[in-house]
Amino acid sequence: VILGGGMQMMVSDSPGTPSDPLDTWSCRRQDGMNLINSYIQDKQSRNLKYSYVRNNQELRNLNVADTDYLFGIFANGHLKYEFERDDGPQGMPSIVDMTEAAIKVLQKNNNGFFLMVEGGNVDMAHHRGRAKTAINESSAFDDAIQRALAMTDEQDTLIIVTADHTHTLSINGYQDRGADLFASRWDSTNYTTLSYGTGGPDSMHYYAETNAAGQVEVKRRDPSLEDTNDFYYEQVAGIRSDENTHGGGDVTVYAKGPYSHLFHNIHEQHYVYHAISFAAKLGEYGRPRFNWVSNAHRHHKTGD
Ligand SMILES: [Zn+2]
Repeated sequence: VILGGGMQMMVSDSPGTPSDPLDTWSCRRQDGMNLINSYIQDKQSRNLKYSYVRNNQELRNLNVADTDYLFGIFANGHLKYEFERDDGPQGMPSIVDMTEAAIKVLQKNNNGFFLMVEGGNVDMAHHRGRAKTAINESSAFDDAIQRALAMTDEQDTLIIVTADHTHTLSINGYQDRGADLFASRWDSTNYTTLSYGTGGPDSMHYYAETNAAGQVEVKRRDPSLEDTNDFYYEQVAGIRSDENTHGGGDVTVYAKGPYSHLFHNIHEQHYVYHAISFAAKLGEYGRPRFNWVSNAHRHHKTGD
């Protein structure tokens, strides 16, 4: 199962449309190849049951019983943010829709399955410095997790939720319980609850002004005069860059199901890969002759 965007990388000279423009930040295939046709020809030549879908309508009408391989490309570049997505027949599916379709197809395999779902627009929105959009995308990702939990059984399915990095987002001040996360607050100087360490030009809210005494003062735009609840609002950042960057903070790892007890502490990032491999008996951990316990014992005795 492959679902997402990236049409302009797979189909040579893919045209942009007003509702799905070409992504000018990404590469674009111009070598005459059409990888979607290659995929379809491969599945047909091997008599495999596949479905190729391009929009909500085709994904909703998916014949799961007749699909072992599902391929869906819904945008030239990245998929639209949830708040601006067209959820009509010709529009792009939500992360919930794609998660559900993927699990329906993969669940037919008696040997089990591995599925990676990325809420990639959380990262995209943070890079643009738009905290409200990023949090709205986190909420959409949360809906997808709920759907996956509802469709699977924790007796036989390990679900891990984590992130590959943080961003430079900060939560500022002493806000009241239940306060609007996107509002601004007056503590002798008005500021938003959320801000970034780094940001693009529109996150630079500072400007210079000469006072009556002829001295230059650095001032900051008053957020209470702006619509800080707009999905396009870019919170203030301390450091001017081309855009907000990733951060170096720890991320959380949530796990439920078999072997979820392996996630219980501070772990290096690569540990997640090994724990998944071990739980699913993949790779090194899946070799018949690989005896985890006796191997560890031997290393202990010889001291290497
Ligand atoms: Zn990123």
